[in-house]
Amino acid sequence: MLLDLWEPLVGRQQPDVPVLTSVEITVTGLCNLRCIHCAVGEQLVTREPERIPPEEIIRVLDRVPTLTTLSLTGGEPSIRRDLIEDWAVPILRYAKDRGLQTQFNTNLTFELERYLPLEGLVDVLHITWNYRDPGDFARIARVPMAAAERYYHRILRNAEALAARGWFVSAESMMTHETLPALGQFNRLLAAVGCRRHEIHPRYQADWGASLPVLDLETMAEGIERFLEERDPNLWVLFGTFPFFPCSPDPRHRALWRRVREAPGVTIRNDPDGRNRLNIDGITGAVRVTDFADIPPLGNIREGADLVACFAAWQEHPAYRPLKCCCPEAACLGPNLLVAQMYYPGVDFTTRRAILDDPAPAQR
Ligand code: SF4
Repeated sequence: MLLDLWEPLVGRQQPDVPVLTSVEITVTGLCNLRCIHCAVGEQLVTREPERIPPEEIIRVLDRVPTLTTLSLTGGEPSIRRDLIEDWAVPILRYAKDRGLQTQFNTNLTFELERYLPLEGLVDVLHITWNYRDPGDFARIARVPMAAAERYYHRILRNAEALAARGWFVSAESMMTHETLPALGQFNRLLAAVGCRRHEIHPRYQADWGASLPVLDLETMAEGIERFLEERDPNLWVLFGTFPFFPCSPDPRHRALWRRVREAPGVTIRNDPDGRNRLNIDGITGAVRVTDFADIPPLGNIREGADLVACFAAWQEHPAYRPLKCCCPEAACLGPNLLVAQMYYPGVDFTTRRAILDDPAPAQR
């Protein structure tokens, strides 16, 4: 049984009644890389002001009684030792004392000892893997080849060492023209170094990724079919912001959705953004539905904003209205905002319904 505690449906008493169970905190806008696709690229900085004290963040979290998961992200939250030791650790310790599940997102490019203060406080260490070789790393992360060689091998070494110490390492790959043929290779490598989960998402057309080419759905579907054949069946695969739905008018898309849904060791996570999660900017205090959608903040904790009220306000937001659908019979809660803009502009998903009476999945 693969239990995904970040799945929005997990915290709901009724499938169509959203509950704020998850908060993501952007720790920093600093990062040692400049990835071409970075969905928060324009928010990256080289210096930044003081962040909100951890005690203040904790007070805000304390006012969300339904919280079950907490994630820290960036930028790169491990870019400075003090960010980990003086900021991330107290917040994570609070979370663990409260019984929350925790996630720490990192590029894992620093020496292993940088991460050790987090030991025992992080349930999911989330990393990124989109590289066939150091050349891919240099091109994607926009670092010199010598640094790319170092980082490429260090990520794998660190992942292996942390996995051996019992950490749950989950690596995310994005689907692009370059990565799609290599997803099976990535998957087997990640399994070999001890990762416990492989997350697969489309590349978002956001921020620095806005001008990069988008995979059409047919090419993506073929790539996913191939990946399912090539993967290591023992490694949990989690598809996030999956762009195929059981209400699709195209029976091939419905068949792919069903094949993925029924594949052993594979899960599809409904999109958490605004369905069970909000993001807090740890520097400015802005509360957003996600750290990278082009939606103005819902409030600011420095000005007393309450997360539960921000979450309620999002449920009535005009940008969310066409995507706020729910088909419990398919355990589906509709598309991610960015994915809907990329692949389904103008579609009102609230007028759709899952179609589950197809005959056996069609072979492509
Ligand atoms: S929840 Fe929305 S996206 Fe999912 S099947 Fe139903 S109408 Fe389609």
